[in-house]
This record gives sequence, structure tokens and C-alpha cells, in this order.
Amino acid sequence: MSLSENNLHTEFHRMQDRRTKEILFQQRAHVFWFYGLSGSGKTTIATALEQRLTYQGYKTKILDGDNIRGGLNKDLGFSDEDRLENIRRISEVAKLFYDAGVIVICSFITPKRSLREMARQVVGEEGCTPIFAKASFETCAERDVHGLYAKAKAGEIKNFTGHGSGFEEPQADDPDWILDTDVLSEEEALIDVLKRVHPVIEFESAITL
Ligand code: ADP
Repeated sequence: MSLSENNLHTEFHRMQDRRTKEILFQQRAHVFWFYGLSGSGKTTIATALEQRLTYQGYKTKILDGDNIRGGLNKDLGFSDEDRLENIRRISEVAKLFYDAGVIVICSFITPKRSLREMARQVVGEEGCTPIFAKASFETCAERDVHGLYAKAKAGEIKNFTGHGSGFEEPQADDPDWILDTDVLSEEEALIDVLKRVHPVIEFESAITL
């Protein structure tokens, strides 16, 4: 055992557990993990969902590229190793909020099935739902919200997902929800996701402490 492990005194037993927080907040905590290509609509739907739930009185926290890569993970790049560490740290942060009874909405490209699986393992399978924002490479390149597809085409971005760096779609037996933003409008996509989110976060009875 290392010195630091020796000096570690956990305080978990003195902390309020998730169940207590869920009763206080009258909601079921959960991590909704939006993933998909750049421009597939993750941020658009994740922020609309967060806004709607917040106005409905739910306690939520959104985690996305801007608030993570600009701070906690600003030392990480886009190599396979760094993408793994990026998702590992985000999953741990999501778990902290989840354990605090919060509904966490993540929005990250998360291109590999193994990365999505790791996130579910860190949070705990029952507490984490991956949501695939499904739009073709062509649609995303046409939208080119952030001008990245043009830059990638010009060879200015190394390891750009879907162009030199692979994206793995979910397989049929994965538990992932699919949100087809190629077909649905923004409003329709939000309605679809809200319909599926509500049964997961609804508190089951009027239990109080
Ligand atoms: P990402 O976060 O996946 O990189 P963004 O949400 O930033 O993508 O951008 C998606 C773009 O696609 C936005 O300009 C949005 O208006 C547009 N869009 C068109 N249809 C949809 C839809 N059904 N859902 C989400 N975004 C859509």
C-alpha cells in the first residue's frame, strides 16, 4: 500500500446517500449520455432537455465539451489514450453528481462502444443511459456548425472523428436509445427524448424523510 493510500480516510459513511437526496429532491437521479458525430445535435438536444427539466423543477447538471475540455481536461488531446482518459474523468464527475441525486446530461462524441461501456461501468449500468444522436456524416458535414468539417477536409485537423478517426454506431443489442436527428426536427427530437426521460426520473411515490 502506498503512503497516500495509507493516509486515505474515507468519509463516505458520514455522507448523505443518493436515496436520501432522491427523496428530498423527489426525483430519480440518472445520467443521460448523448453521443454522436460533431454536428449531430447532441448539444442542441441536451441543452433543450436541461432547460425543460429545470423549468419543470428538476435538479439537473449538464456536462459538455466546453465546460470539461476547457478546465478539468484541458491537458488532454484527441489521441485514443487521451479520449479514454477524457471519458474516464467525465464519467467519474457524472457519478459524483448522480450520487448527489442530480439528473446529469452529458454531451460528448464518445466515438467507441468501449468508451460508452466504460461510462456505464463507472456510473453503474442502471444509472446511465447512452443516447445516440444519429445523423449521417454527410448531414453533419453539411451543417458544419463549428466549421470543423471544412477544416478536416483541408487536412487541418488530425484525428477528426468520422474522417481519419472511426466512429462506432451502437449495435442492435446495446441498451442505447436512438434519436434520429436526420429525420426528426429539433422540436420532435426533444419531445421524443422527454417522453422517454420522464419515466426514468419520475419519483415513484410521495415518500418523505
Ligand atoms: P453537436 O453538439 O452534436 O456537435 P450541435 O447541437 O452543436 O451538434 O449542432 C447541431 C446542429 O444541427 C444545430 O445547428 C441544429 O440546429 C441542427 N439540427 C437540425 N436538426 C436537428 C435535430 N433534429 N436535433 C438536433 N439538432 C438539429
